[in-house]
Amino acid sequence: MLNLENVQAGYGNILALKNVSLNIQEGEIITLIGANGAGKSTTLMTISGVVTCRSGKILFQDKEIQKKSSDDIVKMGICQVPEGRHIFPQLTVKENLDMGAFLRNDKAEIKKDMDYVFSLFPILAERRNQDGGTLSGGEQQMLAMSRALMARPQLLLLDEPSMGLAPLVIKQIFEIIKQINKENNTTIFLVEQNANQALHIADRGYVIENGEITLTGPAKDLLSNQEVQKAYLGI
Ligand code: ATP
Repeated sequence: MLNLENVQAGYGNILALKNVSLNIQEGEIITLIGANGAGKSTTLMTISGVVTCRSGKILFQDKEIQKKSSDDIVKMGICQVPEGRHIFPQLTVKENLDMGAFLRNDKAEIKKDMDYVFSLFPILAERRNQDGGTLSGGEQQMLAMSRALMARPQLLLLDEPSMGLAPLVIKQIFEIIKQINKENNTTIFLVEQNANQALHIADRGYVIENGEITLTGPAKDLLSNQEVQKAYLGI
């Protein structure tokens, strides 16, 4: 479904991605793990067209997307939930969700999707008329994920969904990620510092160090890999 081939990207003189190649098959949950500054967020932002791909190729459903605009990439079916959530604090929960569907005009289907996200996160239904900025961190993460789902993505990019959340809320968020993957066949690319939890829900994983993929394999193999255990699992 998604293929990155020798992707380079960065900021000014900083080459954050030196050579990233990876692939994601339809229906998978793939996680990208790595230390602070390894290039995880940059990988997601390059896929979604926010950071320019300087060389290499990004193919989504066999079409090159590395030169497309972010809007076009969303229209093709890729949607990112950025690190730090970035919901609209002055807009209500319902208005935030409407924003997620702004590229669509199939009203009846939009309503169906809104009912679906409210079934995933009943707390958002209760708070539908409350301003986004008044929600707790966990609720804002739920809203950010729901807003992305309103675009009906085929591939959902999640950047550190567990960041700053209490353990129980993290557990709930990871359960819902699995549920979204199963129920809608939404393919998930999950970037996490919380490698342990991420590898427990993922099919496969990639390890990124200094802008390069250094290890890949089935999630259960990475969980039992001694280097991964030492560097990312605190074992
Ligand atoms: P973290 O978990 O801390 O977010 P990360 O693995 O997501 O880390 P990136 O945010 O992709 O890492 O950063 C990769 C490299 O690019 C780092 O060296 C970082 O300092 C640099 N970088 C990231 N964003 C910018 C920016 N806007 N301007 C300049 N350099 C940046």
